[in-house]
Amino acid sequence: MLYDPERFEPLTETPWREARVRDGIAEIVADADEAFDDDGLWPAAEWDSWQTPVPLKSLYVGASGVLWALDVLRRRGHAEPRLDLARAARRTYELWHETPDLMRDIELPEPATSGLLSGGGGLLTVLWRLDPSDEIADELYARVRENRDNAADEIMWGSPGTMLAARAMLGWTGDKRWADAWRESAAALLARRQPDGLWANRLYGEVVARRLTPPHGLVGNVQALLDGGELLGAETRASLVDDTKAALERTAVWEDGLASWPTGEKRPLEGSDGEIRLQWCAGAPGIVCSAASYVDEELLLAGAGTIWQAGPHGPGKGGCICHGTAGNGYAFLKVFERTGDERCSCGRDGLRCTRSSRCEERARSEAAAATRCGRATWVSRSMPPTACTRRRATRSSRPGRSPKGDSC
Ligand SMILES: [Zn+2]
Repeated sequence: MLYDPERFEPLTETPWREARVRDGIAEIVADADEAFDDDGLWPAAEWDSWQTPVPLKSLYVGASGVLWALDVLRRRGHAEPRLDLARAARRTYELWHETPDLMRDIELPEPATSGLLSGGGGLLTVLWRLDPSDEIADELYARVRENRDNAADEIMWGSPGTMLAARAMLGWTGDKRWADAWRESAAALLARRQPDGLWANRLYGEVVARRLTPPHGLVGNVQALLDGGELLGAETRASLVDDTKAALERTAVWEDGLASWPTGEKRPLEGSDGEIRLQWCAGAPGIVCSAASYVDEELLLAGAGTIWQAGPHGPGKGGCICHGTAGNGYAFLKVFERTGDERCSCGRDGLRCTRSSRCEERARSEAAAATRCGRATWVSRSMPPTACTRRRATRSSRPGRSPKGDSC
């Protein structure tokens, strides 16, 4: 079994309508404007703030993710937030300096304050984008360089994440020091790469696995390296792609012409809690999103087919990017980018929305709640799948960041 059908909802015949989506975006942005508070930023859901000081400020589940999303929507002409985004980003930065939102009572990869998704790297990138200054650029530059040897070797905490920040800064500024910082981290990351192309991801106090997933493993690291473009030598690029293709072929789990992946090499699809995950942070959606440009096409379509057949996530996961329907939908856009197959995009006859009506209603109410909870779940077409929400009422533990190494 590649996924548990009980956890997903069936597709319907309701066609995708652009106007409905635009109305939904406007409604959510208005709610985000209304919900922002200078001291509380956006309130956090209990699970998102597990063992973490609030307000949440990170790119992953905090105010920086919301601000990034609002800015991208604005730049692309999809929304006109009333909120002063630059001011809100400065306030987020002030609060981060007072109390970084780092989890307590768990060993974090050092330097924990530098990471892209959970540390200051992403927060500074968003702040620079909204309110550029030499001071912030210098601070981000220092974070990127000090993160070079972070042992996590993944996007969330490690150097692949801060390489994405450096690459973005190079593109925005043209300042060559960002190219140098990127190369420095890339060289160190490649030196730690194992002979078969995977990395040992040291997270939360122990070597958890040689992971495959975008947030914590192979395809995320490869994406960060390929994102360097000409900064990465042609020979290195070619061998990186070849090795990663081979790794994804040997780790794929096939069933009736469909495919998915475990979170790590030599692991079952089931997590230690028995759940089979099919989401951006674990399973086919994240692999398809990250490896769509180079993985074998038959395998790519088999992975996409699994996501399509499963349908939208049920209430246990909801609409978020990291482990909900938005992240799964993103995979279709990446396949469309590779193949041009219109079945993978929305907005044409014959293609049906990946959300059922019930799911959409719930997503709208969730999204409205999300903006009150410091989340950026509703912009999957407008930003990379980084920020996320976790729709869980209560949990006694948080497997996504636990030493056991399961995903969210
Ligand atoms: Zn997740």
